[in-house]
This record gives sequence, structure tokens and C-alpha cells, in this order.
Amino acid sequence: TPQTYTTSTAASQSWFARASTVTPGGVNSPVRAFNAVGGTPRFIASAQGPWLTDVDGRRYVDLIGSWGPMLLGHAHPEVVAAVQDAVARGTSYGTPTEPEVMLAEEIVARTPVEKVRLVSSGTEATMSAIRLARGFTGRDVVVKFAGCYHGHVDSLLASAGSGLATHAIPGTPGVPGSSTELTVVLPYNDREALRAVFAERGHEIACVITEAAPGNMGVVPPEAGFNGFIAQLCRTVGALMISDEVMTGFRASPQGFWGLDGALEGWAPDLMTFGKVMGGGFPAAAFGGRADVMAHLAPEGPVYQAGTLSGNPVATTAGLTTLRLATEEVYAHVQQVGDVLKVGAAEALTAAGVPHTVQAAGTMFSVFLCDGPVLDYEGAQRTDTAAYAAFFTSMLEQGVHLPPSAFEAWFCSAAHDDEAVQAVLDALPAAARAAAGA
Ligand code: PMP
Repeated sequence: TPQTYTTSTAASQSWFARASTVTPGGVNSPVRAFNAVGGTPRFIASAQGPWLTDVDGRRYVDLIGSWGPMLLGHAHPEVVAAVQDAVARGTSYGTPTEPEVMLAEEIVARTPVEKVRLVSSGTEATMSAIRLARGFTGRDVVVKFAGCYHGHVDSLLASAGSGLATHAIPGTPGVPGSSTELTVVLPYNDREALRAVFAERGHEIACVITEAAPGNMGVVPPEAGFNGFIAQLCRTVGALMISDEVMTGFRASPQGFWGLDGALEGWAPDLMTFGKVMGGGFPAAAFGGRADVMAHLAPEGPVYQAGTLSGNPVATTAGLTTLRLATEEVYAHVQQVGDVLKVGAAEALTAAGVPHTVQAAGTMFSVFLCDGPVLDYEGAQRTDTAAYAAFFTSMLEQGVHLPPSAFEAWFCSAAHDDEAVQAVLDALPAAARAAAGA
């Protein structure tokens, strides 16, 4: 049984102090900070299956899953063995290798993409996909949706300006207005807004980029037919649809969210981006799509894109092994664990009188602390972040590590067994009461 968390976080606190001396905010990605929930980030020393163990020796059920990649759970023995074998043969050659080909084949087999280029992060994947879309179409305007996150690409770190179809404004200092003035930001799930922009500027639009099912404002599934509508609208003016499956890819279903949407409704995006699960916990990501579009990429075509560690043999071995182990049974288990946790969370919050909405996209789900449904970013922002902070802190104290943000999916794995699930269920009622008191 999990150790009960006490007040001692001495070792994490000490490491956080050291980290803060040499790293801005003490973390290497802002999502790891506890700024939104309070307290000290736990420094994790090891992980196994569904469990994280921190430097104080405390154990937590992991519902972060490295923000998506750990579909099989931590340190899966077959993945570890394959990686050890790969490492022993050298870590990077800067030449073509076998596993990168097999990983690309696996991606092509599971999705509608015909050709794949491997990169090292989701950010690189979306940045490169947009460059390719612009190079292919000879157009500059990119349409994105508020609340969709596609990595820290300058032109995609944009907030909606006032009024629809006006220029987007940079969402962060350091991004020049000239980088976002070609980005149009629309409300998610809003067909009218899309129609209006396409009517006015259709001939200028290179692409629409969208999360296949947004998971970065909490999980906000597309309304029925919305993705197909985007694909169709793009086709009418010769723009490309980029479906970002960095989070949903090989997670929401064996074929990503597309497997639950386009595969059933008979449409496909022109380009797709992938990351997380396909890297098996290593820095690997990809973009791919129509062969005629991908043919514009260097060295076959003129659109430049490159990477020293792209297709790295260790990373691609981890990703390939993970995907090969990600069978229908794995997805069925992850779905079932999620279903139990969704019901458990809803019951606990209802009993405590906390307004909430549980939303899902395939095996992905999140819990909004506000009434639903949540259809877009504006809706997501109604979530009670103070209540979430109290909820998160109580869960952590009881040995369950949720994402330290109210706007993230809870990631389960094939390794979440009865013991781990029960530990979460046991912790929920007190956490819900803490949320009610916040
Ligand atoms: N796209 C989506 C949908 C994502 O969820 C993320 C990461 N959370 C990214 C792109 C960026 O990926 P990375 O952090 O690997 O750059």
C-alpha cells in the first residue's frame, strides 16, 4: 500500500532551492511549477508502473504520465530492455538507421499520413508542419483556435485580438507582432467564425491547425463533425488542415483521435503532428501527411527542415517498442481505468457539492471544476482554480500526483492496476471536501 504522505518534503525543498539558483523558477518547463497550486514541486527519483517515488522516498500514484507519453506506465521491462540494447550500440550516429524507418512505418500504418519526418519535440513538429504548409500553398496566414496549444512556436503563441478575423497579438513578451500578425485566432468549436474568416481571407490561408481533440485547456472534444468541417472548408480554398495529435496520437485510441473521428466519418487531415507516446518517454516527435505535400520537404523539395538528433536511434527504439506493445488490450485497460476514475471523481465532487464537469476524448479525460459543458477556451476559464489548488494539494498529500494545473488531462496508463486505482478512489472524497472549502 502507498505510504501516507506527511508534511516532510525536506529533500524536494532542498533540491528546489538548488534548482531555483541555477534555473528560472527552478523547473525546465513551466507546467512543472507549483505556482498555480502552491507548495514545492516533488523531485522524482524513480518511477515504476503507475508509481512515482520522490527524493524524500514518498510514493505517489502518477496521473501526469510525463504529460502523455507513458501509455504503458513507467519503466516497462520490454521498453527498458530495448533501450538498453540500443544504448549499448551507440547513442547517435547522424546517419540513417533501422528503427527510425520502422517507427515511421508504424505511424503510417496507424494513421492516414503517407510520409513522415521525425523530429525531437512536438514544438518542432508543429513549427515544421506550418512552414511546410506555407511553402506548399505559397500563402502565409495560419488559423488556430484559442485554448489549443501547439508548443512554443512564435506564430502560435498568439492570443485573439479584439473581434474575429483581426490580427492576433503575441501571447508572450519576446514574440514580435510581426510573428503573430499572420495568425488568426478563433474560438474553438465555432463554425460561424471559421466560415467568416474563410469567406473573407480564404485565398490567403495556408492552413488551419487544430488539436485533434484539445487537451491543453482541459479536454474539450470537438462537436460532432467539427474536424470534418475544417477539413472540408480547407479543401474549398486549397488550404491545408493540420491536425495536431501530439497529445492524442496513439493515446486517445490506437489511431489517435483520428481513429475515433476521421476514420469513422471518412475524412483525413492533410498534415498531422505527433509526439509524446510515439517517443516512449524520449525526445521524439513527428509530422507527416499527404505524399504530395511531404514531397516539398528537403531534400526532396525546397522547404528546409533538419535536426542533428532527429530519428535518434535510442528515442526511436523506445517509441517503436512502445507502439508495438500498445495493443487493443492496452487501450481497453486505459479506457477502463479512466472510466472508473471519472465516475469516482464525479461522485466525490457531487457528494461535496463542488460544481464540476468531466469531459473525455477517447481514453483522455479531464475534470473541470465548473458547470458544463465546456465547449471552448472561454468556457474552460470558468473553472475554479482555487478549488483545484485545494483539490490537488489534498490528493498529493494522500499520495496521488495530479497535474499541477486545473487545465490538464489526467493521464492513466496500462500499468494502473487495482491498487493504484483504489488509492486514487480512496483519496478523492477528502480532496473534494477540500475543494468545497476553498
Ligand atoms: N501540441 C500539443 C497538442 C501538445 O499537447 C504539446 C505539448 N503538450 C505540443 C504540441 C508541444 O510538444 P513539446 O512539448 O514536445 O514541444
